[in-house]
Amino acid sequence: MNEPRKFAEVAVGLPVQSTFHYRVPARFQSRIGVGQRVMVPFGHRRLLGVIVDFVARPEVAAVKPIDTVLDNEAVLEPDLLQLTRWMGRHYQVGWGETIQTALPVPFRRGQSDTKPREEEEPAPLVPHEPPRLTAAQRAVLEPIQKAIETGEHQIFLLHGVTGSGKTEVYLQAIRTALEKNLSSIVLVPEISLTPQTIERFQGRFGRKEVALLHSGMLESRRLQEWKRIRSGEARVVVGARSAVFAPIRSLGLIVVDEEHEPSYKQDDSPRYHAREVAIQRAVLNKAVVLLGSATPSLESYEKAQRGEIRLLELKERVEEIPLPAIDIVDMRQEIPRGRHSFIFSRKLEEAIAKTLEEKQQAILFLNRRGFSTFAQCRKCGHTMRCRSCQIALTYHIETKEMICHYCTAAVPAPELCPQCRSGYLRFFGTGTQRVESELAKNFPHARIARMDTDATRVRGSHEKILGAFRRGETDILIGTQMVAKGLDYPRVTLVGVISADTALNLPDFRSAERTFNLLTQVAGRAGRSHLAGRVIVQTYAPHHYAIQAASRHDYRAFYNQEIQVRKELNLPPFSRLIQLVSRSPSAPKGLAFAEKAAQELRKHLQGQPVEIVGPSPAPIHKLRRQVRWQILIKTAVSDKIEMTVGEALKRLHPPKGCHLAVDVDPL
Ligand code: ADP
Ligand code: ZN
Ligand code: ZN
Repeated sequence: MNEPRKFAEVAVGLPVQSTFHYRVPARFQSRIGVGQRVMVPFGHRRLLGVIVDFVARPEVAAVKPIDTVLDNEAVLEPDLLQLTRWMGRHYQVGWGETIQTALPVPFRRGQSDTKPREEEEPAPLVPHEPPRLTAAQRAVLEPIQKAIETGEHQIFLLHGVTGSGKTEVYLQAIRTALEKNLSSIVLVPEISLTPQTIERFQGRFGRKEVALLHSGMLESRRLQEWKRIRSGEARVVVGARSAVFAPIRSLGLIVVDEEHEPSYKQDDSPRYHAREVAIQRAVLNKAVVLLGSATPSLESYEKAQRGEIRLLELKERVEEIPLPAIDIVDMRQEIPRGRHSFIFSRKLEEAIAKTLEEKQQAILFLNRRGFSTFAQCRKCGHTMRCRSCQIALTYHIETKEMICHYCTAAVPAPELCPQCRSGYLRFFGTGTQRVESELAKNFPHARIARMDTDATRVRGSHEKILGAFRRGETDILIGTQMVAKGLDYPRVTLVGVISADTALNLPDFRSAERTFNLLTQVAGRAGRSHLAGRVIVQTYAPHHYAIQAASRHDYRAFYNQEIQVRKELNLPPFSRLIQLVSRSPSAPKGLAFAEKAAQELRKHLQGQPVEIVGPSPAPIHKLRRQVRWQILIKTAVSDKIEMTVGEALKRLHPPKGCHLAVDVDPL
């Protein structure tokens, strides 16, 4: 027998963990339920909230009534309610905020869903038959299938070199889930969501069965897909980070491809990591998690070492295609030739020439866009910096502008030094645009394309550039990390890394890991067919262990060195970090608050296994005219500490004009 639902417990979109009680007016009785959105009075405002439960007795006497019920059915299933509550606690943000993140964008704004679902006739598609698995693939697939079939929560880490057939394993695991009437989510980094990737899933399961969710889609289109998932029409969801919240009812499997990718971490609040959320969601649903990577995160691999997750390995590429040979070029040994900068070593230049001669293709990689990375006056030493961020401005040749890569502010590039008015302003450092222009000078007949955020600003240009490259209309593709992932073109026989040091020099304890990953991924673009591939890596640090291990395709060697460093310095995965960044337009006020906050934290966390560092200037001290200070909390790895720190954080109240951002497990 249903009790009358007198009082509802509502999570509202505020940065608070607590929920609030509201009276359910009689007129809503018949149509109200958990997981539906409501509008509720809150102070002088009306807020959007989601019903998380019903209670017999409210906490407060003067309980207000619900204004409006926006949905006729739940927009969040119980497992997503539980998941978002866990996220709120874990990432130290409000439950209402994590709920908002899990909803389609129009639903976050309190829009009602009135439009019926549009029926769309999907374009025809050539179905792909699954290939016969190799013995190695069968060996890794078997335990995954078994876990899916027995409905047991289990986490697997599939460590497989690039081109070892991981995706094929995902596809067959999804098939197993479908046979048990279970749905799957496949998380893919945003930049790997190429038409090629999408086709692979649709070709196997059909367009109707596969739903896509990524930020490049129009909101209305995303909502359509959301409904197709919810209705059970599409049981395979392929998408970027936020697809982890897909409204699936019977979840069997979550695949996290390229699980080491930093883009799985959302960089504004709530700062969740999709891999961690995926694991939590799988726990709640007794589903299987399959993490895949050629370069697993230290966190996941360490868990596999401890037996917390099960390691599966694919050590060779399918069809015995060898991994490409990697040559390291020591740029300190390069003799300057002519007036020109040292962008291309002799070795790389010769390799490019040979590739062109043989009518094959090359990819050149540089993780910096723009033309030059800074402008300095040779007379007075002035460097051009962003007025609001104090970051050196990057010269962009196409628009003849100096651009701040943090806040995107742009000024026309001056002819004269803005400080001493001399004509000695010079541009230093190499970006992708400069590589492009130098390359065009050296190889005037080569067909060159560039792929970076500047070149792909217009919707569809990404596909256009890759399409031309795939059809062989381009000989050389230059790009930032956009070209490092997932591209699989048989005629690419040369990959050149212009500078392996850009990631290595970042002031971040993960810089070695980033460098190893990036080099391995980029190298994986070469020699994917029977045409042998070759990789040339230019560096000023040829003996660094990350570069050495990458050149030998030796993940274990890298891991063993790096985990030692982490252990000695008590860094993740041996500890957890929580970063607090205060920002305010007034420098003294911001610092005063940060100092007070650090003091309070030290007081409240005294005697706990917690270390507090700071406040110190944040790595980007000034951003968009705001001054930023950071406090780093390093804790032991335990849920109990998480709660204790959470309690301490709740006591911090930034004064007016000051803002405090909390980032749990920052990247
Ligand atoms: P990864 O995801 O590890 O990079 P893929 O699954 O993309 O590897 O496989 C690499 C290439 O090998 C793809 O072109 C894929 O179609 C092909 N392939 C994978 N498994 C097999 C198999 N068992 N037999 C033949 N070709 C395969
Ligand atoms: Zn000057
Ligand atoms: Zn700026």
